Amino acid sequence: MKYTVDENGFYGRFGGSYIPEMLYPNVEELRQNYLLIMQEPDFQEEMQSLLKDYVGRPTPLYFAKRLSEKYNTNIYLKREDLNHTGAHKINNTVGQVLMAKRLGKKRIIAETGAGQHGVATATVCALMGLECIVYMGEVDIQRQAPNVARMKMLGATVVPATSGSKTLKDATNEAIRDWINNPEDTYYIIGSVVGPHPYPDMVARFQSVISEEIKAQLKEKTGSENPDYVVACVGGGSNAAGAFYHYLDTPEVKLVAVEAAGLGIDSGESAATSVLGREGIIHGSRTLLMQTEDGQVTEPYSISAGLDYPGVGPLHAHLHQSGRAIFESITDDEALQAVLELTRLEGIIPALESAHALAALGRIGAKPDETIVVNLSGRGDKDLNTYLDRFELHGK
Ligand SMILES: *Cc1c(COP(=O)(O)O)cnc(C)c1O
Repeated sequence: MKYTVDENGFYGRFGGSYIPEMLYPNVEELRQNYLLIMQEPDFQEEMQSLLKDYVGRPTPLYFAKRLSEKYNTNIYLKREDLNHTGAHKINNTVGQVLMAKRLGKKRIIAETGAGQHGVATATVCALMGLECIVYMGEVDIQRQAPNVARMKMLGATVVPATSGSKTLKDATNEAIRDWINNPEDTYYIIGSVVGPHPYPDMVARFQSVISEEIKAQLKEKTGSENPDYVVACVGGGSNAAGAFYHYLDTPEVKLVAVEAAGLGIDSGESAATSVLGREGIIHGSRTLLMQTEDGQVTEPYSISAGLDYPGVGPLHAHLHQSGRAIFESITDDEALQAVLELTRLEGIIPALESAHALAALGRIGAKPDETIVVNLSGRGDKDLNTYLDRFELHGK
């Protein structure tokens, strides 16, 4: 079985490029050039140097002693939370902004839901001196004020999307409209392994530095580059794609993809696409997505804004259908429990998204001599208000 993308842009039956004709020139330009550009020594040199000195890579692979004792196994945390801007998203925006420069683009657009991808994009645009426009649902602008402030501080223009539910999918529609209207000078930085080919493959390659580092670091620590399990949360699926990438063809390494069950799979308030989704087309690719009988996209829900997406990338749809990855879903309450557990056992406050991966530790049933790597996708600073509320720590 092949798990990477084929020459037509598909992962098994998923993926492809289902886009309006007006977008074809932009996507085709990228498709023809992305691999060539990524292979250029100049490109690699500039990217590696930024990953090292600006992002702060390699991120540590930390043996979590007390957490390991609790689960009676060996748990390592890949510390993506220690990256500049606090999550794995910057790995991808650094790569794509360099791609945009090589393609001669002067203007960067992006969409954002929780604002994390918007911040990572505004950051690299400030770094490169490029104009940055971030589309964001009007409702999300109100919900995610600190990230809106960061983007503005970084010099980005935040444009509210006022149609539909005024959330992520509406912001995406606005970004696509902008790109159609500005085909010459504009580059669209997509924030996860979603969208038309070649985006899912390109983003997975930019994030694959995560598993490249895990292999070398685990080898140094344990003598083997292969753990028994790699665990990561899945919104669109970019941090999981990066953590899985160099293990896809190593079947003895079990891959565990963790989705947000929200208030529960059957509650109607969930984002567990692998359980609730059916095949369909969203944002330019064929994949699994949550939809009504007549194909309307369902509004997803999770306490974690980064996992609140109605689909998964086509790679993950394929990993699910082929059985290569194990899919778990974790409720809001289980994730919150995992936040407190990691904080009090290891002194690390994780992002709500990453806590979903941690909460799956109890489901895995690893043996005492086995090794688990959990990808800790981000830090919890952005979620502190939620934590203070939910753990009733106000005024204590
Ligand atoms: C955005 C985000 C996610 C979800 O996105 P993926 O593309 O699925 O990785 C997970 N964790 C954090 C910290 C995020 O900011």
